[in-house]
Amino acid sequence: MDRDLVLLSLMRKYEKEGIECQNALPLSSKSSFKIGGKADLAVFPKNTSELEYVVAYLTDREIPYIIVGNGSNILFEDEGYRGCVIFTEKMNDVKIEGNRIYAGVGTSFTALASKAKAASLTGLEFAYGIPGSVGGAVVMNAGAYGGQTADVLESCDVFDAEKCELYTLTKDEMKLSYRHSVLSENKNLICVGATFTLKEGNKEEIDAVMRDLMQRRISKQPLEYPSAGSVFKRPAPDLFVGKMIEDSGLKGYTVGGAQVSEKHAGFIINVGGATAKDVLGLVEHIQSVIKKNYGVELECEIRRVGTGE
Ligand SMILES: Cc1cc2nc3c(=O)[nH]c(=O)nc-3n(C[C@H](O)[C@H](O)[C@H](O)COP(=O)(O)OP(=O)(O)OC[C@H]3O[C@@H](n4cnc5c(N)ncnc54)[C@H](O)[C@@H]3O)c2cc1C
Repeated sequence: MDRDLVLLSLMRKYEKEGIECQNALPLSSKSSFKIGGKADLAVFPKNTSELEYVVAYLTDREIPYIIVGNGSNILFEDEGYRGCVIFTEKMNDVKIEGNRIYAGVGTSFTALASKAKAASLTGLEFAYGIPGSVGGAVVMNAGAYGGQTADVLESCDVFDAEKCELYTLTKDEMKLSYRHSVLSENKNLICVGATFTLKEGNKEEIDAVMRDLMQRRISKQPLEYPSAGSVFKRPAPDLFVGKMIEDSGLKGYTVGGAQVSEKHAGFIINVGGATAKDVLGLVEHIQSVIKKNYGVELECEIRRVGTGE
């Protein structure tokens, strides 16, 4: 069958099941970089059973798909995505029982930190200000200011698209390390929710830590521009990418609308009309300069999504 007809029939099928979807969605509208062409189809499941249904149907028909949380660690390509982008943003239920919190995968990580604070639970302060979803945080083992997801994660509920099964992975089974988990290396594993174990704390003290961390972000990061945060992984615990880029004289270096931030050289910002091609050109330039100056290969932290991924 013609590709457009397959997608149209898919959309009809999902709509009939009451699952929200949209064709030709501009991915720039769902990317913290504000970059990206159109997705053939975008789907917004509200719960795990809708997500299972969507994924099983796509897998059966061998239609490519990708899971997206808040799009804050992704570079969508200019050509867009030929297939289905599944957004988890509507799967955002949160349950607190004692010192344990269950969060649906699309819950904002920052909102989760605020809910923990409201329940006088400490441990998630580091998450306040990370602009991702719970799913993105678990998959990437997001972290900041000395804290990381691995410190508080108890378990992760996973839908295994290959086996068509739902199961729970313990923190140990998640194999979390620096910006890495078993889910980041296996695209068949989709996080649908996560449970965190926190400790009882003092609301005012938690609030003070969160305010301090947010202030540090505002003063050090170019939050006034679209970006996807730090572009490169730290190559070693004692090597700071931002400093290497700054010392190489690359602050302000620009390719098209993509620029190395003057405020934080580890960030590439979209100063206006940047394309994915601009960002990738700038990434390559930085990598070659750092290789020449330090003999270090910088690896991208940001995920590239599209035809060239
Ligand atoms: C201004 C700014 C500041 C930032 N600061 C930090 C920081 O301090 N610390 C930090 O660690 N990061 C930081 N980031 C990067 C980013 O916010 C985190 O990596 C975040 O965890 C990504 O979550 P997300 O929901 O946006 O993931 P997305 O960008 O939507 O996805 C990232 C990857 O995870 C996959 N994925 C997402 N959800 C699922 C799922 N449910 N199941 C399986 N795979 C999934 C996607 O397919 C993709 O490969 C920052 C970004 C910005 C823009």
